[in-house]
Amino acid sequence: MPEGDVVWRSAQRLHAALAGRELVTSDLRWPSLAAVDLRGREVREVVSRGKHLLVRVAGGPTDRGGEPAVTLHSHLRMEGSWHVHATDGPWRTARSQHGVRAVLANAAWTAVGHRLGMLDLVRTTDEHRLVGHLGPDVLGPEWGPEAVERVVTALLEAPDRPVGEALLDQRVLAGVGTFFMAEVLFLRGTSPWAPVGSLSTAALRAVVELVHRLLVAGTRDVAQSSTGETSHGARAWVHARSGQPCRRCGTTVRVAPIGVAPHDRVAFSCPHCQPGPRPTDDGAPQAPLGARVTGPPGPPGPLGRPSPGQPSVRRPRPARRG
Ligand SMILES: [Zn+2]
Repeated sequence: MPEGDVVWRSAQRLHAALAGRELVTSDLRWPSLAAVDLRGREVREVVSRGKHLLVRVAGGPTDRGGEPAVTLHSHLRMEGSWHVHATDGPWRTARSQHGVRAVLANAAWTAVGHRLGMLDLVRTTDEHRLVGHLGPDVLGPEWGPEAVERVVTALLEAPDRPVGEALLDQRVLAGVGTFFMAEVLFLRGTSPWAPVGSLSTAALRAVVELVHRLLVAGTRDVAQSSTGETSHGARAWVHARSGQPCRRCGTTVRVAPIGVAPHDRVAFSCPHCQPGPRPTDDGAPQAPLGARVTGPPGPPGPLGRPSPGQPSVRRPRPARRG
Protein backbone atom coordinates (compact mmCIF):
# COMPACT_ATOMS: atom_id res chain seq x y z
CA MET A 1 0.00 0.00 0.00
CA PRO A 2 1.37 3.42 -0.90
CA GLU A 3 2.71 5.37 2.05
CA GLY A 4 3.96 8.92 2.40
CA ASP A 5 7.20 8.30 0.49
CA VAL A 6 5.40 6.89 -2.54
CA VAL A 7 2.86 9.72 -2.54
CA TRP A 8 5.67 12.27 -2.19
CA ARG A 9 7.47 10.79 -5.20
CA SER A 10 4.22 10.76 -7.18
CA ALA A 11 3.71 14.46 -6.37
CA GLN A 12 7.24 15.26 -7.55
CA ARG A 13 6.70 13.41 -10.82
CA LEU A 14 3.31 15.00 -11.44
CA HIS A 15 4.65 18.45 -10.58
CA ALA A 16 7.50 18.08 -13.08
CA ALA A 17 5.07 17.00 -15.81
CA LEU A 18 2.12 19.31 -15.17
CA ALA A 19 3.15 22.49 -13.33
CA GLY A 20 3.22 25.70 -15.35
CA ARG A 21 1.46 24.10 -18.31
CA GLU A 22 -2.05 24.45 -19.64
CA LEU A 23 -4.30 21.40 -19.60
CA VAL A 24 -5.49 20.19 -22.99
CA THR A 25 -7.25 17.11 -21.61
CA SER A 26 -9.31 16.85 -18.41
CA ASP A 27 -11.08 13.53 -18.08
CA LEU A 28 -12.26 12.70 -14.56
CA ARG A 29 -13.93 9.30 -14.52
CA TRP A 30 -15.60 9.78 -11.17
CA PRO A 31 -19.38 10.06 -10.79
CA SER A 32 -19.40 13.37 -8.91
CA LEU A 33 -16.81 14.95 -11.22
CA ALA A 34 -17.96 13.76 -14.62
CA ALA A 35 -19.02 17.28 -15.69
CA VAL A 36 -15.79 18.98 -14.58
CA ASP A 37 -13.74 20.49 -17.42
CA LEU A 38 -10.34 21.94 -16.55
CA ARG A 39 -9.11 22.37 -20.12
CA GLY A 40 -7.46 25.68 -20.82
CA ARG A 41 -6.41 26.13 -17.20
CA GLU A 42 -2.85 25.99 -15.93
CA VAL A 43 -1.67 23.59 -13.25
CA ARG A 44 0.12 25.71 -10.65
CA GLU A 45 1.72 22.95 -8.62
CA VAL A 46 1.34 19.41 -7.32
CA VAL A 47 2.10 18.71 -3.67
CA SER A 48 1.63 15.86 -1.22
CA ARG A 49 0.18 16.15 2.24
CA GLY A 50 0.74 12.90 4.10
CA LYS A 51 -0.84 10.28 1.86
CA HIS A 52 -2.96 12.85 -0.01
CA LEU A 53 -2.10 14.31 -3.41
CA LEU A 54 -3.13 17.86 -4.29
CA VAL A 55 -3.10 19.10 -7.89
CA ARG A 56 -3.60 22.88 -7.70
CA VAL A 57 -5.13 24.39 -10.83
CA ALA A 58 -5.24 28.13 -11.53
CA GLY A 59 -8.57 29.95 -11.84
CA GLY A 60 -10.37 30.02 -15.16
CA PRO A 61 -10.18 32.94 -17.58
CA THR A 62 -12.55 35.80 -16.82
CA ASP A 63 -14.20 35.42 -20.23
CA ARG A 64 -15.39 31.99 -19.06
CA GLY A 65 -16.86 33.32 -15.85
CA GLY A 66 -13.58 33.53 -13.93
CA GLU A 67 -13.83 30.20 -12.10
CA PRO A 68 -11.85 30.10 -8.84
CA ALA A 69 -8.57 28.25 -8.42
CA VAL A 70 -9.34 24.64 -7.62
CA THR A 71 -7.53 21.65 -6.15
CA LEU A 72 -7.97 18.12 -7.46
CA HIS A 73 -7.45 15.90 -4.45
CA SER A 74 -6.70 12.21 -4.72
CA HIS A 75 -5.84 9.45 -2.30
CA LEU A 76 -4.25 6.24 -3.51
CA ARG A 77 -5.77 4.09 -0.73
CA MET A 78 -4.82 0.42 -1.26
CA GLU A 79 -3.77 0.14 -4.87
CA GLY A 80 -4.02 3.53 -6.57
CA SER A 81 -1.20 5.04 -8.61
CA TRP A 82 -0.41 7.93 -10.93
CA HIS A 83 1.67 7.45 -14.05
CA VAL A 84 3.11 10.00 -16.44
CA HIS A 85 3.35 9.30 -20.17
CA ALA A 86 4.36 11.33 -23.21
CA THR A 87 1.12 12.77 -24.57
CA ASP A 88 1.92 11.61 -28.08
CA GLY A 89 3.09 8.18 -26.82
CA PRO A 90 1.30 4.85 -26.90
CA TRP A 91 -0.17 4.93 -23.37
CA ARG A 92 -3.75 4.44 -24.55
CA THR A 93 -3.47 0.67 -24.75
CA ALA A 94 -6.30 -1.55 -23.61
CA ARG A 95 -4.38 -2.60 -20.52
CA SER A 96 -3.48 0.86 -19.34
CA GLN A 97 -7.10 2.00 -19.70
CA HIS A 98 -8.22 -0.54 -17.12
CA GLY A 99 -8.97 1.16 -13.83
CA VAL A 100 -8.29 4.66 -15.15
CA ARG A 101 -10.00 7.26 -12.95
CA ALA A 102 -8.39 10.50 -14.09
CA VAL A 103 -6.51 11.81 -17.10
CA LEU A 104 -4.85 15.23 -17.05
CA ALA A 105 -2.76 16.15 -20.06
CA ASN A 106 -0.86 19.07 -21.49
CA ALA A 107 0.78 19.20 -24.89
CA ALA A 108 3.84 17.30 -23.65
CA TRP A 109 2.75 15.04 -20.77
CA THR A 110 -0.25 12.98 -19.77
CA ALA A 111 -0.85 12.05 -16.12
CA VAL A 112 -3.09 9.04 -15.60
CA GLY A 113 -4.56 8.10 -12.23
CA HIS A 114 -5.33 4.39 -11.86
CA ARG A 115 -7.59 2.81 -9.24
CA LEU A 116 -7.62 5.95 -7.11
CA GLY A 117 -9.30 5.46 -3.75
CA MET A 118 -10.65 8.98 -3.58
CA LEU A 119 -11.07 11.90 -5.98
CA ASP A 120 -12.49 15.31 -5.06
CA LEU A 121 -12.40 18.81 -6.45
CA VAL A 122 -12.57 21.79 -4.10
CA ARG A 123 -11.70 25.47 -4.25
CA THR A 124 -8.05 25.75 -3.33
CA THR A 125 -9.07 28.03 -0.46
CA ASP A 126 -11.12 25.11 0.92
CA GLU A 127 -8.31 22.52 0.91
CA HIS A 128 -8.39 22.44 4.70
CA ARG A 129 -11.73 20.66 4.49
CA LEU A 130 -9.89 17.69 2.97
CA VAL A 131 -6.52 17.73 4.72
CA GLY A 132 -6.97 20.08 7.68
CA HIS A 133 -7.42 17.17 10.08
CA LEU A 134 -3.96 15.77 9.36
CA GLY A 135 -1.17 15.87 11.90
CA PRO A 136 2.34 17.04 10.99
CA ASP A 137 3.40 15.71 7.59
CA VAL A 138 6.45 13.47 8.05
CA LEU A 139 7.74 14.62 4.64
CA GLY A 140 6.34 18.14 4.74
CA PRO A 141 8.45 21.30 4.61
CA GLU A 142 7.43 22.19 8.17
CA TRP A 143 8.87 18.98 9.68
CA GLY A 144 11.41 19.62 12.43
CA PRO A 145 11.91 19.39 16.20
CA GLU A 146 8.70 21.32 16.84
CA ALA A 147 6.68 18.91 14.70
CA VAL A 148 8.24 15.96 16.53
CA GLU A 149 7.14 17.42 19.87
CA ARG A 150 3.62 18.00 18.53
CA VAL A 151 3.45 14.35 17.46
CA VAL A 152 4.75 13.10 20.81
CA THR A 153 2.21 15.27 22.63
CA ALA A 154 -0.59 13.96 20.40
CA LEU A 155 0.53 10.38 21.01
CA LEU A 156 0.51 10.87 24.78
CA GLU A 157 -3.05 12.18 24.70
CA ALA A 158 -4.19 8.55 24.41
CA PRO A 159 -1.71 6.67 26.65
CA ASP A 160 -3.64 3.38 26.58
CA ARG A 161 -3.68 3.15 22.81
CA PRO A 162 -1.35 0.59 21.16
CA VAL A 163 1.58 2.49 19.72
CA GLY A 164 1.24 0.76 16.33
CA GLU A 165 -2.37 1.86 16.04
CA ALA A 166 -1.48 5.43 17.06
CA LEU A 167 1.29 5.70 14.45
CA LEU A 168 -1.24 4.83 11.72
CA ASP A 169 -3.59 7.62 12.85
CA GLN A 170 -3.13 10.34 10.23
CA ARG A 171 -4.47 12.92 12.70
CA VAL A 172 -1.40 12.25 14.86
CA LEU A 173 1.15 12.29 12.06
CA ALA A 174 0.55 12.13 8.33
CA GLY A 175 2.26 9.74 5.94
CA VAL A 176 2.79 6.50 7.86
CA GLY A 177 1.21 3.23 6.73
CA THR A 178 1.54 -0.36 7.86
CA PHE A 179 4.99 -0.89 6.27
CA PHE A 180 6.82 1.87 8.10
CA MET A 181 4.84 1.32 11.31
CA ALA A 182 5.90 -2.34 11.44
CA GLU A 183 9.48 -1.69 10.43
CA VAL A 184 10.12 1.22 12.78
CA LEU A 185 8.69 -0.66 15.77
CA PHE A 186 10.83 -3.70 14.90
CA LEU A 187 13.94 -1.54 14.71
CA ARG A 188 13.05 0.04 18.06
CA GLY A 189 12.33 -3.37 19.65
CA THR A 190 8.80 -2.32 20.58
CA SER A 191 5.65 -4.40 20.30
CA PRO A 192 3.01 -2.68 18.13
CA TRP A 193 0.54 -3.43 20.94
CA ALA A 194 2.57 -1.71 23.66
CA PRO A 195 0.43 1.10 25.11
CA VAL A 196 1.79 4.52 24.17
CA GLY A 197 2.02 5.38 27.87
CA SER A 198 4.37 2.46 28.53
CA LEU A 199 7.06 4.14 26.43
CA SER A 200 9.14 7.00 27.78
CA THR A 201 8.90 10.38 26.08
CA ALA A 202 12.46 9.85 24.82
CA ALA A 203 11.51 6.46 23.36
CA LEU A 204 8.46 7.94 21.62
CA ARG A 205 10.58 10.76 20.24
CA ALA A 206 13.07 8.19 18.91
CA VAL A 207 10.23 6.28 17.20
CA VAL A 208 8.94 9.44 15.53
CA GLU A 209 12.41 10.51 14.42
CA LEU A 210 13.10 7.06 12.96
CA VAL A 211 9.78 7.19 11.06
CA HIS A 212 11.00 10.43 9.50
CA ARG A 213 14.45 9.07 8.63
CA LEU A 214 13.06 5.95 6.96
CA LEU A 215 10.43 7.86 4.99
CA VAL A 216 13.02 10.38 3.80
CA ALA A 217 15.20 7.47 2.68
CA GLY A 218 12.12 6.08 0.92
CA THR A 219 11.79 9.23 -1.17
CA ARG A 220 15.27 8.59 -2.60
CA ASP A 221 14.85 4.93 -3.48
CA VAL A 222 12.65 3.39 -6.09
CA ALA A 223 11.70 0.52 -3.81
CA GLN A 224 10.27 0.87 -0.30
CA SER A 225 12.94 -0.57 1.99
CA SER A 226 13.89 -0.44 5.64
CA THR A 227 16.76 -2.93 5.49
CA GLY A 228 18.85 -1.02 2.96
CA GLU A 229 18.32 -3.89 0.52
CA THR A 230 16.41 -3.24 -2.69
CA SER A 231 16.08 -6.77 -4.05
CA HIS A 232 12.63 -8.30 -3.93
CA GLY A 233 11.96 -10.16 -0.69
CA ALA A 234 14.78 -8.48 1.23
CA ARG A 235 13.34 -5.00 1.76
CA ALA A 236 11.60 -5.56 5.09
CA TRP A 237 12.53 -6.89 8.53
CA VAL A 238 9.03 -8.08 9.41
CA HIS A 239 6.42 -6.45 7.16
CA ALA A 240 4.59 -9.03 5.01
CA ARG A 241 6.93 -11.74 6.39
CA SER A 242 4.47 -13.60 8.64
CA GLY A 243 5.34 -17.28 8.89
CA GLN A 244 8.97 -16.63 7.93
CA PRO A 245 11.92 -16.55 10.32
CA CYS A 246 12.93 -13.20 11.77
CA ARG A 247 16.05 -11.96 9.99
CA ARG A 248 17.64 -11.17 13.34
CA CYS A 249 16.70 -14.05 15.68
CA GLY A 250 14.97 -16.70 13.59
CA THR A 251 11.70 -16.61 15.56
CA THR A 252 8.63 -16.88 13.35
CA VAL A 253 7.29 -13.45 12.40
CA ARG A 254 3.61 -13.02 13.27
CA VAL A 255 0.78 -10.90 11.91
CA ALA A 256 -2.43 -9.82 13.65
CA PRO A 257 -5.04 -7.10 13.25
CA ILE A 258 -4.42 -3.84 15.08
CA GLY A 259 -6.84 -1.00 15.75
CA VAL A 260 -10.58 -0.87 16.05
CA ALA A 261 -12.83 -2.16 13.25
CA PRO A 262 -13.66 -0.95 10.68
CA HIS A 263 -10.38 0.98 10.76
CA ASP A 264 -8.30 -2.01 11.82
CA ARG A 265 -5.15 -2.82 9.86
CA VAL A 266 -2.46 -5.46 10.22
CA ALA A 267 0.75 -5.35 12.21
CA PHE A 268 3.70 -7.68 11.62
CA SER A 269 6.18 -8.25 14.42
CA CYS A 270 8.74 -10.61 15.91
CA PRO A 271 7.63 -11.84 19.35
CA HIS A 272 11.25 -12.23 20.47
CA CYS A 273 12.77 -8.98 19.19
CA GLN A 274 9.69 -6.97 20.15
CA PRO A 275 8.71 -8.19 23.62
CA GLY A 276 5.62 -6.77 25.26
CA PRO A 277 1.88 -7.15 25.03
CA ARG A 278 0.37 -8.63 21.91
CA PRO A 279 -2.96 -10.23 21.04
CA THR A 280 -3.28 -13.75 22.33
CA ASP A 281 -2.03 -15.90 19.53
CA ASP A 282 -2.96 -19.58 19.19
CA GLY A 283 0.35 -20.33 17.50
CA ALA A 284 -1.26 -21.68 14.35
CA PRO A 285 0.89 -21.52 11.24
CA GLN A 286 0.64 -18.25 9.33
CA ALA A 287 1.25 -18.11 5.63
CA PRO A 288 3.48 -15.34 4.33
CA LEU A 289 1.51 -12.40 3.00
CA GLY A 290 0.46 -13.08 -0.56
CA ALA A 291 0.81 -16.85 -0.21
CA ARG A 292 -2.13 -18.95 -1.25
CA VAL A 293 -4.24 -19.86 1.75
CA THR A 294 -5.47 -23.42 1.79
CA GLY A 295 -8.10 -25.17 3.87
CA PRO A 296 -11.68 -24.26 4.64
CA PRO A 297 -12.40 -20.57 5.10
CA GLY A 298 -12.76 -19.49 8.69
CA PRO A 299 -15.46 -17.24 10.06
CA PRO A 300 -15.27 -13.66 8.86
CA GLY A 301 -12.77 -11.91 11.09
CA PRO A 302 -11.72 -8.29 11.27
CA LEU A 303 -10.05 -8.68 7.89
CA GLY A 304 -12.86 -10.63 6.31
CA ARG A 305 -12.46 -14.14 5.09
CA PRO A 306 -8.95 -15.10 4.03
CA SER A 307 -8.73 -15.48 0.30
CA PRO A 308 -5.89 -16.11 -2.12
CA GLY A 309 -3.60 -13.16 -1.93
CA GLN A 310 -4.56 -12.22 1.61
CA PRO A 311 -2.62 -13.18 4.71
CA SER A 312 -3.97 -15.93 6.88
CA VAL A 313 -4.83 -13.98 9.96
CA ARG A 314 -6.37 -15.44 13.05
CA ARG A 315 -8.67 -13.19 14.97
CA PRO A 316 -6.92 -12.56 18.27
CA ARG A 317 -8.81 -13.54 21.36
CA PRO A 318 -9.37 -10.70 23.83
CA ALA A 319 -6.22 -10.25 25.89
CA ARG A 320 -6.56 -11.54 29.42
CA ARG A 321 -6.31 -8.85 32.01
CA GLY A 322 -4.37 -9.02 35.23
ZN1 LIG B 1 13.43 -11.52 15.98
